[in-house]
Amino acid sequence: MSDKKVKQNCDSMSTGLLSVDEAKKRILETVAPVSGQEKLSIRAALNRVLADDVLSTINVPPYDNSAMDGYAVSSEDLPDNNERQLQVVGESFAGSPYGGQLCSGQAVRIMTGAMIPAGADTVIMQEQVRREDDNIFIGPGHKKNANVRYIGEDMRIGQTILTRGKLITPAELGILASLGIPEVKVMRKLRVAFFSTGDELRSVGEPLDEGQIYDSNRYTLYGMLQRLHVDIVDMGVIADRRDDVREAFKTAADIADAVITSGGVSVGEADYVKETLEQLGKVTFWRVAMKPGKPMAIGSIDKAAFFGVPGNPVSAMAVFYQFVQPALKKMMGMQTSFTTILKVPCMTALKKAPGRLEYQRGILDYDENGELVVKTTGVQGSHILTSMSQANCFIILPAENDGVIAGDVVEVQPFTDLV
Ligand code: AMP
Ligand code: MG
Repeated sequence: MSDKKVKQNCDSMSTGLLSVDEAKKRILETVAPVSGQEKLSIRAALNRVLADDVLSTINVPPYDNSAMDGYAVSSEDLPDNNERQLQVVGESFAGSPYGGQLCSGQAVRIMTGAMIPAGADTVIMQEQVRREDDNIFIGPGHKKNANVRYIGEDMRIGQTILTRGKLITPAELGILASLGIPEVKVMRKLRVAFFSTGDELRSVGEPLDEGQIYDSNRYTLYGMLQRLHVDIVDMGVIADRRDDVREAFKTAADIADAVITSGGVSVGEADYVKETLEQLGKVTFWRVAMKPGKPMAIGSIDKAAFFGVPGNPVSAMAVFYQFVQPALKKMMGMQTSFTTILKVPCMTALKKAPGRLEYQRGILDYDENGELVVKTTGVQGSHILTSMSQANCFIILPAENDGVIAGDVVEVQPFTDLV
């Protein structure tokens, strides 16, 4: 054998770690959009995912109209040098058009949004004319077709305006209303069940005994899932008992499209969590080259997708945002969305050892010169949940990075993009 090392899949090597990019790619490959659609009135469809393309059956705007308050004229009447006098023969208001046909030497008083009368092709702003009784005087320098908004300029008959997989936000609601569409077909809501595992966990409202902590992951998970507008089933805390764990996994897989658990995925966890998962479904335990959040479990139990996020509170959130959320969005039928990554100078030094990609918590702000800069939130332990609240972005340090000195440019991912 040569001294070349035998290549193996990272995740099959006991010491190897899967890269973040590879893990992201694989997790997306394990899930597919759910089937099932429903018809909703457009307001009820806010925050839902379009199941069909939306085609325009009308032109928007439906007619040429004025972009200004002023006078509709024919460009033939625009003077080249001297002032020109035109007779005002009528009015066109929004919702009440001028019925006649404009002849040479005539103008129509027109308001924003009102129909351009037949025979006119140009609107002169009212500030640019002198009016005397029923006449206006316009000077040179006006352009043909000025201040006219054209039929179908925004949406044309027969045009595909929205494509399936589009998330319905306020802009889409307005578009649907502009097209006169009262109802749309959307993907059915994804149903997500989740629970925490750990004998040390208590729920809010219960007293804490020695060695116990409050379960916070069910609350961060609840919050992150709510913002995705999925149906949520909170199954509480499941104790580290074989039968309880088995029952919980079975129930969750029965009622939900996706099951998320926190805790119980690190080395040294009670073996039966893994054992149970292996018996009930196809689950792979991954060690991903990232910090926080190295261990995670991915797979399926019956028809449900399964995501096991780490127990440490910051790891649970980071793994959810980076891996689980994109997978849930794919299951919801959502088109892949744009992720903002900014390159900005980091004003504080950051400690990092090469080997794993790190999602450090940062605060993005403007410095005294108005330039965007980032600084650390401070201590970066995966148990420091307050860092997630102080932060407004992840500072993404690539695996090979071996620390940052103040002034270095780093990549950041704003939290505003994570919803
Ligand atoms: P585990 O992944 O179960 O080994 O947990 C790793 C660390 O996270 C331990 O310190 C746990 O006590 C803590 N932890 C696990 N689950 C939760 C939870 N739901 N809420 C808060 N901390 C947790
Ligand atoms: Mg545990």
